[in-house]
Amino acid sequence: MKAKQILKTGFRWACWCFLGVVLLVVARAVYVFRDRVPGYALDLSIKPAANPAPLRVGFARVNINPDLDYPKRPVWVAGFSQNRAATAIHDDLWAVACVMDDGQTRVGIVALDAIGFFHDDVVAVRRGCSAAWDLDYVVVCATHNHSTPDLMGLWGPSPFRTGVDPIYRKRVIQAAIESLGAAVAGLAPARLAAHHTAVPVEGLVADSRQPLVYDSDLRVLHFTSPQNGTTLGTIVGWGNHPETPWSRNTEITSDFCGYLRDALQAGVRSDEKVLARGVGGIHLFINGAVGGLMTTSPGVTVRDPFLQTDHKEPSHGKARALGHQLAARVLPLLEQTNASPTSPLALGVEARTLLVPVENLGYLAASYLGLMDRGYARWRQIRTEVALLTLGEVSFACVPGEIYPEIVNGGVEAPVGGDFQIDPLEIPPLRQLMPGQVKFVFGLANDEIGYLVPKSQWDVQPPFTYGREKRPYGEVNSCGPEAAVLVHRHLSELCKRATAPRNVAVDPGV
Ligand SMILES: [Zn+2]
Repeated sequence: MKAKQILKTGFRWACWCFLGVVLLVVARAVYVFRDRVPGYALDLSIKPAANPAPLRVGFARVNINPDLDYPKRPVWVAGFSQNRAATAIHDDLWAVACVMDDGQTRVGIVALDAIGFFHDDVVAVRRGCSAAWDLDYVVVCATHNHSTPDLMGLWGPSPFRTGVDPIYRKRVIQAAIESLGAAVAGLAPARLAAHHTAVPVEGLVADSRQPLVYDSDLRVLHFTSPQNGTTLGTIVGWGNHPETPWSRNTEITSDFCGYLRDALQAGVRSDEKVLARGVGGIHLFINGAVGGLMTTSPGVTVRDPFLQTDHKEPSHGKARALGHQLAARVLPLLEQTNASPTSPLALGVEARTLLVPVENLGYLAASYLGLMDRGYARWRQIRTEVALLTLGEVSFACVPGEIYPEIVNGGVEAPVGGDFQIDPLEIPPLRQLMPGQVKFVFGLANDEIGYLVPKSQWDVQPPFTYGREKRPYGEVNSCGPEAAVLVHRHLSELCKRATAPRNVAVDPGV
């Protein structure tokens, strides 16, 4: 009788404990998957003004070096593996801003030397901007640099601990806000020359996954003073992973992006000899379509065109050589200030938020463990954003992740072995749909939701595509097979909206 009662009580306790555990698990899920910006939604359509005022542009930058002075609070370097504590600052990291104003519309663009920046953080930047700055739209891009502090949470001391320092994250948000404010304060009349130049990939970038499609052309916007022709700044777009110093590097660096910016601004010197002349000003590097994946891996030998040195092994020298390779192509373009003046220079903005399903169990687990600290707008769905900006004959597609270049430039395939065995869905290519003459694709813009893999190339299950024996790399860092389809569809719609004939007068205060 007694034994039976003990058993009964024990069973009851076990039930209560189980229920308690279930409740704790559910409570944690409710907490970690909560929406960080409840109700945030955007559907913005600002048509270019028919008679814009003369263009004004402002540039500014704010340093975002992490603080390495506290050994008990290591700075975890992002991008390759966990437990990579930063040992030194090799060169500076920046939040670089450009604000453009056509008298009706004002747009701010920030490029961060960072691995990625979630949509919630972008909203924090927007909410931190003063209303007096009168910004109609703000884009925050990350260069996707793999030698910067972890801002995504995946590269902490262990697979179960975040690498994000909340203090640093706040500082980067604050720096982005400050850079925008300073750029607004610096608004000055500007003339624009837009350039697009083809760049062969040899000795610069490799594609680690078939089909071999790149985003290697350089696109450059050069803003100069109409009064004296001096350079105010540039926006340079090119697609490649900034991971040149590779996985063993523990020194914080802005990689080739920083070397490019420095060379454009100050030129290149060696032993007091001027090897290339800079043009002054402030320069934004914005990464393009880096998925699929674009990389200057240890297999690529890069020649420094100024210092005449070759670099195969990963190093800061190799990153410098790569930055110099780009600078050697951009600097001559900056001589031709009247190459392609585009006018009238009216700004247009089409932007909208969308929900993307997260099917990647790794991402869900990372969120549950508190590694990836970003909100979910609905159950297993994150809120992200796409945008299409226009400035005269220049357009910018803002993509919230690492898009495969074939979706941008064409060449999506439906290889045998693909998990879905469907025809390509992400067609026509985005650049075919985008308006204008010079078409920038801003990757990792306003979010980092991972790889945007064409659905017809999605490949997790054997047999694998292109005769591979192992599954290809990419899907493990993607929300799922629907992400690229959704981003492509919404951007296509924005392209249509941007090119649709104007029939409604738009309130300039929208
Ligand atoms: Zn990447």
